[in-house]
Amino acid sequence: RKLHEQLVELKNIRVLCRVKPVLKEDQHEDGQSVVVTTDPDNESSLNVLNKGKGRTFELDKVFHPHAGQEEVFQEIEPLVISCIDGYHVCIFAYGQTGSGKTYTMEGSVENPGINQRALKHLFSEIEERKDMWSYTVTVSSVEIYNEVLDLLSKDGEKLDIKMNPDGTGQLHVPGLRVIEVKSFQHIKKILAMARRNRITFGTQMNEHSSRSHALLCITVQGTDLATGSKTTKLNLVDLAGSERVWKSGAEGERLKEAQNINRSLLALGDVIQALRARQTHIPFRNSRLTYLLQDSLGKGSKTAMVVQVSSLERNVGETLCSLKFAQRVC
Ligand code: ADP
Ligand code: MG
Repeated sequence: RKLHEQLVELKNIRVLCRVKPVLKEDQHEDGQSVVVTTDPDNESSLNVLNKGKGRTFELDKVFHPHAGQEEVFQEIEPLVISCIDGYHVCIFAYGQTGSGKTYTMEGSVENPGINQRALKHLFSEIEERKDMWSYTVTVSSVEIYNEVLDLLSKDGEKLDIKMNPDGTGQLHVPGLRVIEVKSFQHIKKILAMARRNRITFGTQMNEHSSRSHALLCITVQGTDLATGSKTTKLNLVDLAGSERVWKSGAEGERLKEAQNINRSLLALGDVIQALRARQTHIPFRNSRLTYLLQDSLGKGSKTAMVVQVSSLERNVGETLCSLKFAQRVC
């Protein structure tokens, strides 16, 4: 096989880009010409036209706007196997609001996204290995807004996550609801509950879901008589919108929110960059998001970041920002 393919396989951090197709509802406003183009001969590059100037970005993989959910999942599938094989795995969707993050992670009923597909695959793999291994799978889910809310609790229990500077070792979140799951059907119900809760808890707040990160954390404990047991985590993260709200003249609470989000996305970028550069100090403590994920983002972990972009001219500024972020961690 080609050396390039082998190298890609070795990479522990992969940056993928998904270009949102132009939908009917996008076609009635200004700035609707398509400025982002993929290259049919090169599946790792894409071009953005801005004010007459073209710019090319190189990433690990670029999906054509018409790539379906299954095609996207094909790139993620090896990570699910890695998780059962002993690696911690984090999968992120990054991008401006409306660019398709939730579509990619959750998807729709007819067209489920990465979350459901990954879990289905996880349980079928576990089933296949049952002669040799026994597995225990648990799930928890939180939303990080101004506070951290438990999406599996009845009424959006607030969790107290102390950014305690001398607390080392295992991360512990007091009060977090953790549910043991036995089957894909069971976890499907839990995902639906988390989704409902995310909507219900959010109704008081303006554009809540675009201003918050949603984390789904799966713990897989595998036991084998010969080698003992090991525990790994699969984190599936629908990040808050990456748009630069402060530039639009936001004030008060909204500005504070925007700064929080921006800080956590920047902190995530810093962490991934530090991991990629194999630095000894990884700045996990700069945000609650990276703090919560620290035990699954470090050594022995694999990460995929799906950067979502719009292809429309009116979003070109945000598209360029997202791709610069992608390039920074790539
Ligand atoms: P975000 O979570 O980034 O704010 P959404 O996932 O909610 O964005 O996407 C915005 C809208 O576009 C939704 O109605 C979603 O169903 C639709 N959409 C996004 N990506 C696709 C896609 N690849 N194919 C079809 N519809 C999509
Ligand atoms: Mg969303």
